[in-house]
Amino acid sequence: MGCQSKQNQRIEEKQRIKPNRTILSDEVLFLLRRRRKKKSKPLKKNPPKEISQIKPQKWDSSLSSSSSLSPPSPPPIPSTPSQLPSSSSSSSAGGEDDAQLRCDSWRFACEANNLGPWKTIPTQCAAYVEDYMMGKRYRFDLDMVAGEASAYARSVGMAGDGKDAWVFDVDETLLSNLPYYQDHGFGLELFNGQEFDKWVSKATAPAIESSLKFYEEVLGLGFKVFLLTGRAEAQRSTTTDNLHAVGFRNWEKLILRGLDDHEKTATAYKSEKRSEIVGDGYRIVGNWGDQWSDLLGYPMSNRSFKLPNPMYFIA
Ligand SMILES: [Mg+2]
Repeated sequence: MGCQSKQNQRIEEKQRIKPNRTILSDEVLFLLRRRRKKKSKPLKKNPPKEISQIKPQKWDSSLSSSSSLSPPSPPPIPSTPSQLPSSSSSSSAGGEDDAQLRCDSWRFACEANNLGPWKTIPTQCAAYVEDYMMGKRYRFDLDMVAGEASAYARSVGMAGDGKDAWVFDVDETLLSNLPYYQDHGFGLELFNGQEFDKWVSKATAPAIESSLKFYEEVLGLGFKVFLLTGRAEAQRSTTTDNLHAVGFRNWEKLILRGLDDHEKTATAYKSEKRSEIVGDGYRIVGNWGDQWSDLLGYPMSNRSFKLPNPMYFIA
C-alpha cells in the first residue's frame, strides 16, 4: 500500500502540473483543439471539396495490425468491405452536404454494428471523424447514453444481497485515449500496438466525464463493479494508477487479458470472463462499453449500453 500511495502521490503531482488532463471536459478539449491548431494537419488533406468526390472505398485486406487491445492472431473473420454508401443514391443536394451525410451514414453503420470488420476509418471521413471526436456531438452522445443508463440503473430493484453487478470496459469507456488518437489520425492510421502501449504506460488518459459520474452513481446504488478490459495483465499497474488518478475507485475486480487470453477474440474473452462473474453468483444487471465485442456473447447483461466510438473496431 505504501508503494501504491507513492505512485498515487506521483500521479497527483503530475495532475497538479497538468490539472486539465484528468477529465475529458471542455477545458481538455480546448487544450486539444489548441494543440491541433499548432500541429500540421494531415487530415485536412481531405477537405470537403475532395470529400464530395466520394466513391465507395474498397477494403484493403492487406492491412494488418496488432494490439494489446485486440488479440495478435484472432480467428479469421470474413473480410467485409468497409465502404461509404454508394454515390448512386446521392440526392440533388450534392457536394459537401452529401459528403457529410455519407460520413454520417458510415458512422451510423459503424455504431449499429452493420459494418464488417474494419481496420481504419474511410479516408474520405477523416476530417469528419476528427470533427466529431473534438466537438460537442461526441460528448452529447456520451451524455445521452449515460442518461439512459442512469434511468435504468435507478429503476432496477436491487436484491440487497450484494450480487447485483455492473460491468465496465475501460478504453474509450472510462478512460479516453483521445490525446493519443489525436496524434494518430483519429483512426485513419493503422493501429500500432507498440505505440499505443507506450501511451498506456504513461497512465495519463483522462476520464470520460459522463462515465465517471455514472460510475459513481452505480457504486452509490450498491452495484458491485467489475472492470473488464482487453488490456494485458502486464498493464495492470499502469491501468490501476491511471484509473485511480482520474477518480475511478472501489471496483470489485479489474479483469485483464492473461497469457491464455491473447489468442481469443474480444467477444470470446469477455464472454468467458462474464461467465466467471456469473459463476461466482453475481447477476450482471448492466454492461457498458464502446465496442460491440464488450457487449455481445453469453452470458449477456440484462441491458447493454454502447458508447460511441467511430475511431476503431475490435472484434
Ligand atoms: Mg473500449
